[in-house]
Amino acid sequence: MYYLIVYSFVCINQIDSKILFYNTLDQSHFILILNKGLRKVINMLTSENACVEIPFELYKDKEFRNFISNIENKNMGFFEKISYFKEKPFSPPICDLSNQNNEINIFNRPKYILNNLREVTIYLNNSSTTKYSNNKAASEAYKQFDYTRINNDNKNELDVKRVLTFIELLPQLITFNILGGNILQFRYISKLLDNLLKYKNRIVLHIHYQDLSKINDNYIIELLKNFNINILVDFPLNIEELQKNLLKLKSTNYKLVFLVENNIDFEKSENFIDNLNISSYNQVPFFNGRNLTFFRRNVFITKYDIFQVKYSIVELLINRISNPTYFGKLILNSDGNLYSSFYSEPLDTLDCFIKNKEIIINKLIIDKSSDWILNKPQISPCNKCIYNFLCTPLSNYEKVIGKNNLCTLVK
Ligand code: SF4
Repeated sequence: MYYLIVYSFVCINQIDSKILFYNTLDQSHFILILNKGLRKVINMLTSENACVEIPFELYKDKEFRNFISNIENKNMGFFEKISYFKEKPFSPPICDLSNQNNEINIFNRPKYILNNLREVTIYLNNSSTTKYSNNKAASEAYKQFDYTRINNDNKNELDVKRVLTFIELLPQLITFNILGGNILQFRYISKLLDNLLKYKNRIVLHIHYQDLSKINDNYIIELLKNFNINILVDFPLNIEELQKNLLKLKSTNYKLVFLVENNIDFEKSENFIDNLNISSYNQVPFFNGRNLTFFRRNVFITKYDIFQVKYSIVELLINRISNPTYFGKLILNSDGNLYSSFYSEPLDTLDCFIKNKEIIINKLIIDKSSDWILNKPQISPCNKCIYNFLCTPLSNYEKVIGKNNLCTLVK
């Protein structure tokens, strides 16, 4: 007789008769196809003790021997004669990520429900007098990531007092993203920035580089130095205009965010970064409806990508019961509505949130189809994919492209 011991840093994911064994310490893994004998062993490994007594007859099974050599070669456990031990050892059961019975809602602690918030994005207005060189990006990229949302035909802006009341209600230490339209044309921008100075939160102002051309109020330029600024840059790029505007932000903590639609944009942004020795930047792919090939080549996830990320067991469990892309995030739009993402219906109005904030957050946590919770293990075809708990979470890209699996693994 033998003992098989599998270490507690190993996780499994089971889809039909296939099981992925995953070592959270070094990302080594293998896939096992279950037969009757193996099924029994797996049940025991995931129930009370991951030390399982193995009868000699099972060891005669070729599939079982392959399983044992995988476990030992990938440092996931060992197989040893019982006589070697004084008594049966205990090893905590290994985590079965496909077991829905293990599901507990760790976010639902009523007293601390607002502490689930971690990032709030506020669109102060939705208009601008700037003539953007890339109108589509300026008016549509907000659906994919933090970017300007221009709709000059249906202008609106928030009331500064209500914005400040809203911010006052939220926990300290969450990040605030401040966006527009053109935030520099928000009527009360200096009042808002003055007031924001007293908060310890991380506050990021997102400003399109072309919006900076018209700024000539020295007081505002001085105020900007107190915040993190993301300068939004799209193509075609007016390099002179960008360089000139960056000079205005000397000694300001800024990051350039390049919106790239194809390889040419990507190369141009690389050249700009190299030539100006830019140290803080981001290059964000923008789906414009015509660049699926660019996305297939550069954004779609491959099996190689999946195993490049190191996850702890806690992170894997969180990935399975929530969606880290959206969890903890709210958007306050310039029309006064709150969203968890622009692909979902409004959660409520700002006024209702001020009165019932706990109820609104609680709904996002308990509703399994909310943006905060819904993730790949629950949706087709990813729910049949053995890698679903290791994959990147569902994001706005899947929604804008209209395909749940942006990967090269499943067609
Ligand atoms: S099928 Fe879904 S879960 Fe699997 S690799 Fe593709 S995107 Fe990820």
